Amino acid sequence: MSHRPTVGVLALQGDVREHRRILAALGAHTVAVRTADELERIDGLVIPGGESTTMWRLARAFDLLDPLRKKIRAGLPAYGSCAGMIMLADHVEDGVDGQETIGGMDVTVRRNAFGRQLDSFEAALEFPAIGQPALHAVFIRAPWVERVGPDVEVLARVAAGPTAGRIVGVRAGRLLATAFHPELTADTRVHGYFLEIVKEA
Ligand code: GLN
Repeated sequence: MSHRPTVGVLALQGDVREHRRILAALGAHTVAVRTADELERIDGLVIPGGESTTMWRLARAFDLLDPLRKKIRAGLPAYGSCAGMIMLADHVEDGVDGQETIGGMDVTVRRNAFGRQLDSFEAALEFPAIGQPALHAVFIRAPWVERVGPDVEVLARVAAGPTAGRIVGVRAGRLLATAFHPELTADTRVHGYFLEIVKEA
């Protein structure tokens, strides 16, 4: 792989621009992905935050769901934030009727898990894979990971409060997912970590 990877951002819905801005700041070439052809030209894929039910419906309507599944199963590195985490999960709790995902990660994710009182919140988060200082994590109607398969590495858990211990960052091989939105902050470390995965692939 060249050291200037091309990273696609799935651009059906969600905070595409924010992800592209950070990836570009880290030196990646970025492209918006809306077609199966575009999927063939990238070294890694980011699935943004947004609304997983809408993303799923649009992926179906654009005939992208199966190409996405194929590429990810074939080893395309991918990073999903929030709704993107849901899209990468093999199983979803509290999805809408018939909701499908791309899958690839052997996890069960609970949609909108933090509930009303914690609908949106910000918290300091230890994320040992990227080191110190703790991340300032932004959660917006976020999911959490309820079950991880044997090959899934837990990267971050909520530190304090009523949801302490809940899993909000995971990695399985070349797939990375966070329940929070680093793309909405100035901290580039999670995207940097993903670019390392892309470069090693
Ligand atoms: N609740 C949204 C969903 O189910 C995710 C929210 C987000 O990405 N900020 O997809």
